[in-house]
Amino acid sequence: MMKLWNRILAFFFPPRCLLCGAPGYVDEDHLCADCAKKRPEKLYRFFALKVRRSAYTLECRAPMRYRDPFRRTLQRFKFRDETGMAAPLAIQMKRILDADAKFDCIVPVPISRERMRERGYNQSALLAEALSKETGIPCRLLLEKTVHNQTQHRLSAKEREKNVRGVYRAEDCTGLRILLVDDIVTTGATVRECSRTLYAAGAAHIDVVCCALVL
Ligand SMILES: [Zn+2]
Repeated sequence: MMKLWNRILAFFFPPRCLLCGAPGYVDEDHLCADCAKKRPEKLYRFFALKVRRSAYTLECRAPMRYRDPFRRTLQRFKFRDETGMAAPLAIQMKRILDADAKFDCIVPVPISRERMRERGYNQSALLAEALSKETGIPCRLLLEKTVHNQTQHRLSAKEREKNVRGVYRAEDCTGLRILLVDDIVTTGATVRECSRTLYAAGAAHIDVVCCALVL
């Protein structure tokens, strides 16, 4: 009975490939036959960071560029409750991590309590938990967003920097090597501020991985 129901559902709402968005058959990683064959891209951006008197370079990597059709996939994940995408997205993120990289924990970029009430979930936390399952690296919620600020997407790069200043708080991170997880990195203002907060709380090293980068 369930099988028949699933087939009826699949007929009206065919699954879509995670990367290219094409409807039709997808494998267990939610990829169509074409995308399953492709090797993942490893995209990078580097951000300069100053914390007190120390200078850091923040490496941020992603398996995809933030553009259509993948952009639409991420919007479904972020705004339309399609939380089941966290696991296949985390698989894409894991594929671009270095096998020998050593992290003590995975930390998601947090959202404010107000945003949590509004959306019902933190998409970065879902990604971090799924990536933790894939890699065996524990997920720890070391960051908290204590200020409910304006959403970033309408702001310029300068305004974004100002908008996120001082909005995060971190638990003690002494000596920790942290993999910071965000869904999309646009200007880097958010991950830079999160990293600044984590370094100020004692983190030894931070790298960033996200689903998609604006290049
Ligand atoms: Zn595809």
